[in-house]
Amino acid sequence: MDSDDHAMLEALVRHGKRHQLDDFLAQGDRCGWCRHPIRLRGFVVSGPAGEETVTFSSSSLPDGVVLKACGSRSEVRCPSCAAIYRGDSRHLVRAGLEGGKGVDEAIALHPAVFLTLTAPSFGAVHATSAVSPCHAGHPRARCAHGRPLACPRRHERGDELVGTPLCPDCYDYEGAVLQNALNSELWRRTMIYTERQLAAVLDRTQADARRVARLSFCRVAEFQRRGVVHLHAIVRADGPEGSVPPVDAGQLARACLQAAGTITVSNPNASATWGRQIDVQVLEHGDERARRVATYVAKYATKTSSDDPRLDAPVRSFEDLCRRELPTHLHRMVATALDLGADPALSELNLARHAHRLGYGGHFLTKSRRYSTTFGALRDARVQWREARRLGDDGPEDQTSEGHWHAVGAGWTDRGESLFAAHQQRQRTEDKREAELAWYTRSE
Ligand SMILES: [Zn+2]
Ligand SMILES: [Zn+2]
Ligand SMILES: [Zn+2]
Repeated sequence: MDSDDHAMLEALVRHGKRHQLDDFLAQGDRCGWCRHPIRLRGFVVSGPAGEETVTFSSSSLPDGVVLKACGSRSEVRCPSCAAIYRGDSRHLVRAGLEGGKGVDEAIALHPAVFLTLTAPSFGAVHATSAVSPCHAGHPRARCAHGRPLACPRRHERGDELVGTPLCPDCYDYEGAVLQNALNSELWRRTMIYTERQLAAVLDRTQADARRVARLSFCRVAEFQRRGVVHLHAIVRADGPEGSVPPVDAGQLARACLQAAGTITVSNPNASATWGRQIDVQVLEHGDERARRVATYVAKYATKTSSDDPRLDAPVRSFEDLCRRELPTHLHRMVATALDLGADPALSELNLARHAHRLGYGGHFLTKSRRYSTTFGALRDARVQWREARRLGDDGPEDQTSEGHWHAVGAGWTDRGESLFAAHQQRQRTEDKREAELAWYTRSE
């Protein structure tokens, strides 16, 4: 038995000795074996007004606390909570395409497209390629820094070179970081322009067009291997009061393409546009693709910067950056963001604060207000469902209950508990995967 096993066993024995092992296991299950659960102390009073009694108290539980999941969206920070967030994202995205979760199913008849917007090139980078060389060219051709302009290799996906520049000194690091910093504004303006383009397609004035067709969207940001953000978005057109608008998906797709192709964000010190790789796909009603798109979009909702745990927290200084021992390209992206962050002319971009996200300050998943349901509504539904299950179907109706809670800390009590929680969480993921696999083979 190694020291990890020993620590886990000690933690379990500790609860066992107090006859609280079952309570401990139930508590862990309830918070999904979250990595850093919040520890709450308190009680619940319920009963008719004036006759309330304490019906539940944390003092009876292991260590006298209730454990509440941390609720993090980041896969790196808490795999368990991130999985719940990913599930909610999928519901949220799908509800906007198919209805359900409180959204009218007629929404499926509204025209919708799936849009992918990629940043321009900031210099040649190594790319995955199965058939042709990474960069064709004369083997002796050199850049001004004496580095080869060609790369005859065929890189596989896992190759660490993929996404890194052929010559870091030729590469436009400032351009790449500013692109990330301006990405959210670029997206905001793209949506405004798409509405204008739609008016032109419909041959109406803008005000007139907005009366018959408004845009809703849900978009995720994804870091490419080169450390530049690209966007995947579902864009939908809605008529007044939930009606089907007089626009078809083809017209919507054209308006998106025209807008994305012309938009520029510029201020005196920086500018950004979308690259040439703009892709738009029409999502047909009842199309299997809509479901795949929802899963795809949700997958990115829990990713952070580079998914590199070394960039999980803000970088405070160059010394701090060096301590993280990042790969050269990533290091240089962060260093450039810190550098530019010190420039007063760019202060409004908050580059230093977002240096650990390579300059990107936006959210990883955003949606317009009218797109679909909300994370809050999905969370409430989950809590209610769990509560109903706990009380049985006919729980006390004439009773009101009120909880009085306060946080007394975060995380597990000791290393043994932490290790055990991580083990249980992994086990749950595996069980789920196996159940899914069994389901697929059965339905074949
Ligand atoms: Zn958590
Ligand atoms: Zn290469
Ligand atoms: Zn060079």
